[in-house]
Amino acid sequence: MTARKSGPAGRPDPLAFLDDEVAALHERHLYRRLRVMSSAQGPIVSVDHRRLISLSSNDYLGLTHHPRLREAALAAVREFGVGSGAVRTIAGTMTMHEALEAELATFKGTPAALTFQSGFSANTGVIPTVTGETDLIVSDALNHASIIDGMRLSKAPRQIYPHGDVGALREILREARATGRPGGGPYRLILVVTDGVFSMDGDIAPLRELVEAAEAYDAAVMVDDAHASGVLGRNGRGTVDHFGLHGRVAIQVGTLSKAVGALGGYVAGSLALREILTQRARPFLFSTSNPPAVVAACREAIRVMEDEPELQERLWANTRRFKAELTRLGFDTGRSETPITPVMMGDPDVAGHFSDRLIEEGVFAQPVVFPTVALDQARIRTIVTAAHADEQLDVALAAFDRVGRELGLISG
Ligand code: PMP
Repeated sequence: MTARKSGPAGRPDPLAFLDDEVAALHERHLYRRLRVMSSAQGPIVSVDHRRLISLSSNDYLGLTHHPRLREAALAAVREFGVGSGAVRTIAGTMTMHEALEAELATFKGTPAALTFQSGFSANTGVIPTVTGETDLIVSDALNHASIIDGMRLSKAPRQIYPHGDVGALREILREARATGRPGGGPYRLILVVTDGVFSMDGDIAPLRELVEAAEAYDAAVMVDDAHASGVLGRNGRGTVDHFGLHGRVAIQVGTLSKAVGALGGYVAGSLALREILTQRARPFLFSTSNPPAVVAACREAIRVMEDEPELQERLWANTRRFKAELTRLGFDTGRSETPITPVMMGDPDVAGHFSDRLIEEGVFAQPVVFPTVALDQARIRTIVTAAHADEQLDVALAAFDRVGRELGLISG
């Protein structure tokens, strides 16, 4: 125990225990030092005063610094200023918010869409709004933290199925329909929730099978396409488009903070879904709407995704090449099928050391450790983007090769 230190007024510091908690994280090698960037996002970034090839952003299409998005944001600032000034339900709904939502709905092929301040708040907004004590949520074991928090905020009971295990999901659904609610009566709604692309492993949810299982038991499906937006489907429309499941997934969540290049989240689905969210979703009701620059950049991003399909093609060409080379070098890239490629290390210490050595070699790739992944599943998580040039990927791969041999992870 740390001695209770004095607080500002000479009194014992009531938060002194936090020092112990931070020290414990350091001791267990689980403390995450923030790497500070002094440049714009992009394939080359300045981190801690070094120029590094970045394999760490979610900027899949390179839109964070796309000239058309910059111009759209600047024009919006000039005309509308920097803040929206209110929550959506008071005075924070501008024409551009509604226009973005109409454009998102068209893009996604749904009757309606509603934006939130982030993908995280979209999940924590939508799940407790559509589910309550008469319902059941059935969730993949590896779903994102924001889905987990959304479920915690809901009064609905929940069941977890092992990651991607459609057989186990079917069993849960069968049982739930056979026995009904613990208090008696059938469930009003059974909602099956999954990430579209899993953010730590880069694998794609078996959405077709999940939808078929849900349909067999009269359940609805919600997919969180944070890492599928801009990546999968025509022009980056996401997993529903990728699998040809239009009209069969009740709730699609997406983020505007990754491939779309700015910030925000949305829920796409029926008109009634949008309506109820505008009345009940707490982040929508109680947190200020996104500012004009962000909204304008998101609108332009959708146009760029339609006009420049070569960005998505380049993303996938880079992805295929980078993955194939890592595998050829002898690395274990887990079950990844997308631009998110984990390089498995197991031991968090090794992952931390590997990442530090990569930085010395000019490559920025972050370790991912517990609690984000299981204790023995530490990894370096890489994401290549459309903006990476061949030579940059060559340098990155050579660094992985050198450090991998040095640390005995690959032989040769
Ligand atoms: N869902 C998933 C699956 C994610 O990976 C993330 C971002 N890590 C989010 C939601 C949150 O999105 P945002 O960054 O827009 O809040």
